[in-house]
Amino acid sequence: MTVSPEAKNESAAELNFDVIVIGAGISGMYQLYRLRERGFRVRVFETGTGVGGTWYWNRYPGARFDSESYSYGYSFSKELLEEWDWTEQFSPQPETERYLNYVADKFDLRRDIQFSARVAAAHYDEAGSYWDITLDDGQCYRSRFLVTAVGPLSAPTMPNIDGVDDFKGEAYHTGLWPKENVSFEGKRVAVIGTGATGIQTIQEVAKTVGHMTVFQRRPNWTTPLQNRKIEKAEMQEIRANYDEIFRRCAESSSCFLHTPDPRKTFDVPEDERRAFWDQQFNAPGFAMWIGGFSDMLMDRAANDAVSEFVAEKIRERVDDPKVAEMLTPKDHGFGTRRVPQETFYYEAFNQPNVELVSILETPIERITETGIETTDRTFEFDMIIYATGFDAITGSFDRIDIRGVEGESLKDKWRQALETFLGVHVAGFPNMFMVMGPHTALGNIPRSIEYNVDWVADLIGYLRDNEFTRAEARPEAVDEWTQFVLEKGEGNLANEIDSWMTGVNQNVAGKQKRIIARYSGTAPEYRDRADTVAANGYKELALS
Ligand code: NAP
Repeated sequence: MTVSPEAKNESAAELNFDVIVIGAGISGMYQLYRLRERGFRVRVFETGTGVGGTWYWNRYPGARFDSESYSYGYSFSKELLEEWDWTEQFSPQPETERYLNYVADKFDLRRDIQFSARVAAAHYDEAGSYWDITLDDGQCYRSRFLVTAVGPLSAPTMPNIDGVDDFKGEAYHTGLWPKENVSFEGKRVAVIGTGATGIQTIQEVAKTVGHMTVFQRRPNWTTPLQNRKIEKAEMQEIRANYDEIFRRCAESSSCFLHTPDPRKTFDVPEDERRAFWDQQFNAPGFAMWIGGFSDMLMDRAANDAVSEFVAEKIRERVDDPKVAEMLTPKDHGFGTRRVPQETFYYEAFNQPNVELVSILETPIERITETGIETTDRTFEFDMIIYATGFDAITGSFDRIDIRGVEGESLKDKWRQALETFLGVHVAGFPNMFMVMGPHTALGNIPRSIEYNVDWVADLIGYLRDNEFTRAEARPEAVDEWTQFVLEKGEGNLANEIDSWMTGVNQNVAGKQKRIIARYSGTAPEYRDRADTVAANGYKELALS
């Protein structure tokens, strides 16, 4: 049964579902599993035609994990851990998508997921204490509770460059990559963007492209991924070790297998310091970033020192010193933006058919029907790849018309000030719970997702068991949490830099100013606070 728009004021007896979940990525899938387990009637709306969220949409060449595969999968089911074999240390997108489909099949999730269903609006009804959800095809549904599982990096943004729609050749945004095979052979390909996505794309496309021109605005620091195969025997060992792996993730500051070295940079003698950096630089994954000296992101001199070490590595690998210089960040220190992981990225620029154009030096003036014009040259291309990122953290909320009490718009509210309680609740938006919302602990994201989802499932269970139909964060709880998030962000050098992590996206109106968009305390601290709220009967929420 669907609710006609005219019937919106009818009684809550018309509820179609107990809970509507937006998004069938890692969060939404698990939220469905947990809520269904507790006997709730749940419907998940998903824009795509399949499950996987990030790992459904980001099927660009070279897309793969930057976290160790076995630390990134779901941990909630022993059976699933027993059954699934990861074949690479850092799983490529096709394998991850297969994994998430396997999970959907194993737990029979699809029967409660409506695919090709984009939520256009979500309006709270105060009289009936429910949410009315409207899809972009006009269908309406009503539920007591709304869980947003929309992801912090899932609203792709095109660059604000003149003529972006004029190009007549092939054009792809990495976050909306087609399912069909795309060939680069013999083609003249442009790539705009050199973030984590651009770097993975460039190093992969370089293998087969006719000619590639990379348009780089600000370069990023990056470290070697050190991917390799996982053989069956090694997978058995990993499996035997899962409890220990997930324990280590839970205890670490951001749920990765890597933890900061407690020493301070300049307390360590220079020889030893360099040996440590060498070891971390050559270790797999985020060892150099997350596993660096403890003051790396707080102390400017320490940050300068590690940045110079990584700059040396770039100079060693890039043949042309001018290109090496262009690839070395000048406007931010190592680790103050999310560090992309690479495999022969720098070597791609040693290929005769790969050219780097700094659009800081020669800005792009327009995109034409046949290519790109900079202040200096006219380029002709067969294909343009936009690796230009996302309207992060709040962007996927902004794309839905979400209205709370008295029709207040969430987008407008957050433009005034980004405030939440635990990153789960927003004052004035009762019965709406966010998984991976702003100001929650992110880090190695599936680990944080599992915690968030369990917490939300417990809360909804508590509300049902105690016959509450309305839950809203108290303003004082929101103030206190927001203050805590702001305090945790103090002194963190990353918060002085423009990036998606500080809410800046030059392509989106109103997102030019830096804010504290992320919680930068530790995950254990986050869980302690959230556990206490639950243990004390959710006193920070007004329940009725
Ligand atoms: P991003 O880090 O925001 O990078 C976007 C790139 O596009 C930047 O180089 C940016 O330049 C450039 N750009 C944007 N607008 C432009 C314009 N108008 N003109 C020219 N250049 C423009 O986005 P992303 O690379 O998609 O990565 C986002 C996040 O997704 C990552 O940080 C990471 O957290 C996640 N991710 C994860 C993985 C993984 O785990 N394996 C892989 C990919 C992405 P400026 O820097 O100058 O703005």
